Parts: sequence; C-alpha cells; structure tokens
Amino acid sequence: MKISHFQVIPYSIPFVKPLQTAGETYTHREGIWLKIQSEEFTGFGEAAPLLGFSRETLKEVHYALEGFNQAIEGESFENEELFSLIEVHSQNIPSVRFSLETAIYDLLAKEAELPLAKYCNLGAKTEISVNGMAGVHFPGDGFSVIKVKVGFRNLFDEIENMEYLTESFGNEVRFRLDANGAFDLPQAIRFCKKMEKFNIEYIEQPLPANNLEDLAELTYHTEIPIAVDESLTDFTSAEKIIDEQAAQVFIIKPMVSGGFTECEKIIHLAQAENIRTVITSSLETSIGREACLHIVLSNEIAEVCGLATGCLLSEDKPLNPILGGKIGISESPGLGIDL
Ligand SMILES: [Mg+2]
Repeated sequence: MKISHFQVIPYSIPFVKPLQTAGETYTHREGIWLKIQSEEFTGFGEAAPLLGFSRETLKEVHYALEGFNQAIEGESFENEELFSLIEVHSQNIPSVRFSLETAIYDLLAKEAELPLAKYCNLGAKTEISVNGMAGVHFPGDGFSVIKVKVGFRNLFDEIENMEYLTESFGNEVRFRLDANGAFDLPQAIRFCKKMEKFNIEYIEQPLPANNLEDLAELTYHTEIPIAVDESLTDFTSAEKIIDEQAAQVFIIKPMVSGGFTECEKIIHLAQAENIRTVITSSLETSIGREACLHIVLSNEIAEVCGLATGCLLSEDKPLNPILGGKIGISESPGLGIDL
C-alpha cells in the first residue's frame, strides 16, 4: 500500500451542555480527524485523548502523526510493515494507534468491499444493544440499561435520585452506576450497601484508578459487581487488575487503550478469566464512535455497550439511528462514515 495523501484536521466541538462527572466538567471535545488516501480509496480515523482517562496530550498526538507521515511519505509498504510502523510511532500514545489503525482498516475494508467489522471477522454481528444515559435519554427511548453518574451528590440525594430513576424507567431497566473514582473504601462500602435494593448491573470505578487493593476488598463487601474503567488503560493494566482480582467487569475504551489490536488482546484476556467486557466511546465524534462500534461487532461482544454518546456533542454527524436501544452498521464498505 502506498499512502498518497495524509491529512490531520483539528477539531473542537462544544458539548450541548457541560458534562459533569465526579472528576471533571467537560465543556468541549477536542481532537483530530485523520484522512488518508491510497489509490482510489480514502480512510478516516480519529485521535482525541480524554482528560482524566488518557495519558497523552493532543500536542503529542500531532508530533506522533507527523513522525508517522514522514516515515511513510513516498514509499510503498506491505500491510504488515505498515502496522509495525504504526506500533513504533504510537508507543505510549494510544489515541494515535487508534486513529491510524482505524484509517488503515477503513482503506483495507473498502478495498475488500466489506464493512470494517466483517473485514476483521466475517462472522461479525451487524447490530448491538447500547445503554442510554440518565438525564439525556428518556423512558420512551427503549433502552434496557441506563448509565447514571454518581459520586458528586450526598448519599441521601443519591438514593433519592435512584428512587426517581427507578420510578420513571420502571423495574425492568437495569442501571450502571459510574463514580469516576470518587469514593474511598468506607464511602464505597456504604454507598454500595444503599444501592443494593435498586436494579444495579454494576458500579464503575467506585475507587480511584490506582487503588486496586481496595477495589478487591470492596468486592467482598457488596453483591454489586465492580467494573473498572479509569484503572484499565492497556493490556498490562488489565493483567494487573486480574492479578489483584479487583474487578468483575472491564470497561474498554479503544481511544484510551490503543485501538483494534490492543483491545482485542484485552478482550481475549478478559474472556479467558470470565470477566465481562463492555466497550464504550470516549465521547469522541462519529468517526471514533463508528470505529468503536466495529470493534464491538468484530469481537462479538454480547454486553450492552456505551456508544450512545453522540447526542452530547453539538455539530456532530449522527451515526446510524439508535432504535429501541440498538445500533447497527450498514452494508457500506469500510467504516461506513466520512467527514
Ligand atoms: Mg466510566
């Protein structure tokens, strides 16, 4: 493959309303779109490090992509060489690996005239269930799982909020709580005890990212399964979490963990250890979210995933519509979306 055109397009898009978690308030989403061309095909990717999750800065993303571009300029490569070059130029910059892998797979899948997920795995599904979000989605939207941000209200208000949500969404809907690392162990134990009477699927990152020992301890104090998100940043961290027995569910973010190859490794590791795997977006735009969707489908993930985040951004292209809590891909080859 010879890449004839390599373009990095920066973007900054405001959220419809500021997004509050226990750790951060997000007003804008910043990142870059990547557009590459080979013969008659164009491939797209997205790199957007997320504050509080990613280890790299946007500046590092620009430098790394510039380095990669210089390495490939004017030369032809076998696919394998190209993927090795991606690995070399994205060491410790997982969002760059995600963007480059997405763009190259987009090209290859278009060449093969297959949707990206099918290019990676002919047995890939074409549709998955996604979760809604409290405060954004409503009971009539048809989601079976609703995510609730917690950890920034006092305990009485948290209970009142869950009573209200249960009443409005009904007893059938399951809730995923996300504390974004807000609690210490005694607070988390108390909080989980109070939440056990609700229909809770799991609690995400109840304790700070590096506190695996207390996460493991917490699993003995509550029947609510513990999920890790911020703690899980790559394959090595996944191994550590398993060693410490700190979680029953992995939340994998391709933007944070480094794209197709790294996610697949983490998923296989988790499956071998009977750990549930959920894939979520990192609040990126449609290119990144579509790439996440193809990763979910090609890995045949059965869990409800967190990809219904597009409505949080203003000025973004909608993906394929989310109907009855499900989202799918079209027949179109590659990623199925462009700028
Ligand atoms: Mg989370």
